[in-house]
Amino acid sequence: MSNEVLLMKPNEIEKVKSHYMKFKVERSAPGVVFAAKLVDTAITIYKSGKVMFQGNGATREASLWGTSSTKSLSTSVAKGDMLPANFSSLSVLGSDETGTGDYFGPITVAACYVHADQVELVKELGVKDSKMLTDDVMLKMAPDLMATLTHSVLVLKNEKYNDIQSRGWSQGKIKALMHNQALKHVLKKMETEKPTYILIDQFAERSIYYNHLKMEKEIIQENVLFSTKAEQLHVAVAAASIIARYAFLKEMDRLTEIANTPIPKGASAKVDEIAAKIYLKHGEEFLKSITKWHFANTGKAIKIVNKRRF
Ligand code: MN
Repeated sequence: MSNEVLLMKPNEIEKVKSHYMKFKVERSAPGVVFAAKLVDTAITIYKSGKVMFQGNGATREASLWGTSSTKSLSTSVAKGDMLPANFSSLSVLGSDETGTGDYFGPITVAACYVHADQVELVKELGVKDSKMLTDDVMLKMAPDLMATLTHSVLVLKNEKYNDIQSRGWSQGKIKALMHNQALKHVLKKMETEKPTYILIDQFAERSIYYNHLKMEKEIIQENVLFSTKAEQLHVAVAAASIIARYAFLKEMDRLTEIANTPIPKGASAKVDEIAAKIYLKHGEEFLKSITKWHFANTGKAIKIVNKRRF
């Protein structure tokens, strides 16, 4: 059950009323000027201009009315910008990142363009919400996607990450710069073609995102929308997310090779153990070169090292 509230202008409210006229019901609650009931959604219009959609179909119905002049007041589903109707079938450039919470390995960001004509093809290639796909499946899918779609993927290796992090850059700033860069690359490759929208899987509020970019020469902002769970809203973001994951996993394979031990994902106690092992075998500088050094795992690993030494 979800709940969506839009603030709409009088002329738009008239359109909403006539759209649901067939399903009109009588409601005498204070402030209510119109009410309708579909099989799975109740629509209530208030004197204030608020239009409320309640029920399992609330998101679907509300998305019919989300234009640029409509304000979404609340949502229990994805947070972020209200997307236009039929968004999932439009030509969209999407971006997403991975690796931000992993002690070992890079942050990777990918941006990927899916033209309206390619949406079905991309679905046939198996792209869906990447949170539902395993790493093994994504490893197999990504090469096809990369061969088919205009994309850009950036890998921020640990040495560079540790350098800029120690100079005070937050992960938010690092991610914002990488998203902007990846989007820029794809737009350049697209030449004269333009996406109808750009959708960024939201990790920061719009104002914070653009504040991070304020020193940049070229800032991508035209038709940019932000939403959490964006990989569920357009296959371009889902594909970007799979490509970013692929690049992350490939780099993890490389680290496994040079460390001569399997490198774990995440930031758990198991990660501390492996980090301690690598520290003892290859030394601190080497460990630093393959980890996000400021994570709490570093201190925990060194504690384990000191226990083993004495
Ligand atoms: Mn994301």
